[in-house]
Amino acid sequence: MKTLDIIVPVYNEEACLNQTMQRLFDLKEKFKGKLNVSYIFVNDGSKDNSAQILEEAAKKDKSVKVINFSRNFGHQAAITAGLDYSKADYSAIIDADLQDPPELIYDMYEKSLEGYDIVYGKRLKRKSETAFKKLSAWGFYRVLKSMCNIEIPTDTGDFRFITKDVREAFNKMREKHRFIRGMVPWTGFRSTPVYFNRSERAAGETKYPLSKMLKLAFDGIFSFSFKPVDFIFILSAVLFAASLVILGFGAAQEFEEEFLICFTICLIGSLNLLALGILGQYIGRIYDETRNRPLYIVKNSINL
Ligand code: UDP
Ligand code: MG
Repeated sequence: MKTLDIIVPVYNEEACLNQTMQRLFDLKEKFKGKLNVSYIFVNDGSKDNSAQILEEAAKKDKSVKVINFSRNFGHQAAITAGLDYSKADYSAIIDADLQDPPELIYDMYEKSLEGYDIVYGKRLKRKSETAFKKLSAWGFYRVLKSMCNIEIPTDTGDFRFITKDVREAFNKMREKHRFIRGMVPWTGFRSTPVYFNRSERAAGETKYPLSKMLKLAFDGIFSFSFKPVDFIFILSAVLFAASLVILGFGAAQEFEEEFLICFTICLIGSLNLLALGILGQYIGRIYDETRNRPLYIVKNSINL
């Protein structure tokens, strides 16, 4: 029988882990006679009891595999580790907080039988997330779409089902700043969505504070697009034209000199910094690539 690994990144999820595991274990029944299901929980340096809860479950059931990181390496690194360790015919990725309904993995599997290598969960409604999170996510996916040359689906996280071929292609991509929801479509395999309403967290709080959200958004933009550099180029042309106009006006009329000087210093200074910042984003990424540090460090693993 073919096999499926369900990969679950876990960071301080003690409040909902038991409930999540139960829902995930129930899937075995659903897949009976079709796929042999195993679970790869990647504990991303949790400081709560998540590791103990996972260890208990792994002791009882050999299909529960656990990878413990030495520290918190982030959501994208945790998924990467799960995919690195997965040896099954299919791999699915799902969050640990039940915002993604586990039962949908079965629908994804059925959809894949129609000839798709990637089936991703596309969010219709996002229940009880803050207005800021909804608006920023909505805006971000659309800005990204306008900036990238490859087709990254909007309103889609990492909740997805992929074949071994996709996983093997993905595993060859070892870039340090990872935006998995862009890297998977980059592989070019045939893909399709299944739609779902994103529910609220089963318990606990988001592990994605604004700083982590921004890092992910920057990784999406700067790893997939050179448009920000084009922007600097266009900006320099516009500013040059504007400076000629101002010069012309200045010569014809009497501007307040102090105002003009202040305005010009602020404008040029801030735009210079913006341009430097954009270049810095790319240079920092080159630096990280050349240092070539591992994407994550595994402290130990269970049943693997
Ligand atoms: N997560 C992780 N490492 C982190 C942050 C989050 O492994 O540094 C996991 C987390 O346990 C969850 C998933 O990534 O399974 C998504 O996180 P969360 O639900 O907090 O994000 P949100 O849904 O609020 O964007
Ligand atoms: Mg969540």
